[in-house]
Amino acid sequence: MTNEDFIAALSSAGITLTAEQVHQFEIYYEMLVTTNEHVNLTAITEKKEVYLKHFYDSLTVAMYEKNLQNLDSTLIDIGTGAGFPSLPLKIAFPSLQITMVDALKKRVNFLQEVVDTLRLTGVEIVHGRAEDIGQNPKYRENFDYATARAVARTSILAEYTLPFVKIGGRFLVMKGSAARQELSDGQKALATLGGELTEEFEFSLPNGDKRYIQLVNKKAKTPKKYPRQAGTPSKKPIS
Ligand code: SAM
Repeated sequence: MTNEDFIAALSSAGITLTAEQVHQFEIYYEMLVTTNEHVNLTAITEKKEVYLKHFYDSLTVAMYEKNLQNLDSTLIDIGTGAGFPSLPLKIAFPSLQITMVDALKKRVNFLQEVVDTLRLTGVEIVHGRAEDIGQNPKYRENFDYATARAVARTSILAEYTLPFVKIGGRFLVMKGSAARQELSDGQKALATLGGELTEEFEFSLPNGDKRYIQLVNKKAKTPKKYPRQAGTPSKKPIS
């Protein structure tokens, strides 16, 4: 996807980027590939692929959860890695308040450099594991939205994300073709942690790759024992 295709595809989805935002994506791309030469950030480095599979793909969630585009929504992105999906969302929707979490210090350092270079405000970067941060009262049940892309199966992700979501907020599930199977395997985890599926959208990226976005409402408080200690959710998913 060329720059022009990126801008046009977003525009036809109702998302208009200013020249400055287009420039910010360019700088982000340059920093990603330059840093990737010595820090492992992504396997995708070809420009058209980064624009499609990282930048555009990250923004699809705001095409289905339109309130992400509203003033002052708060979003926590668990296992953000090189910043996906939250950093493209922040660039496209500057009023969104984002918190980016990752367990790897080198990735967190890269994110801080990008945020400083692009002079983004309303961004917090947290180094640590979701299981530990989810028990911290500063973050627990404090966000309108939680999301995570390419981090774990839905049954595990629910335990990483739902503790952060306020009642009435949403866990935004971003998945490929295994989405429905993962959701059905994750039903017990969602219910245990206070979540309930409300809507599902099925669509394709411009290259034909299948994607699903599932909106999970937070209906009840997450019991205090969740998230369990670091490593337990992935070793023994709630089932
Ligand atoms: N979300 C990014 C994306 O879509 O490109 C990165 C995906 S990468 C495959 C998974 C990331 O999740 C890694 O950076 C890893 O350090 C982080 N991660 C995995 N488990 C985690 C946990 N329990 N808490 C915080 N970060 C975690």
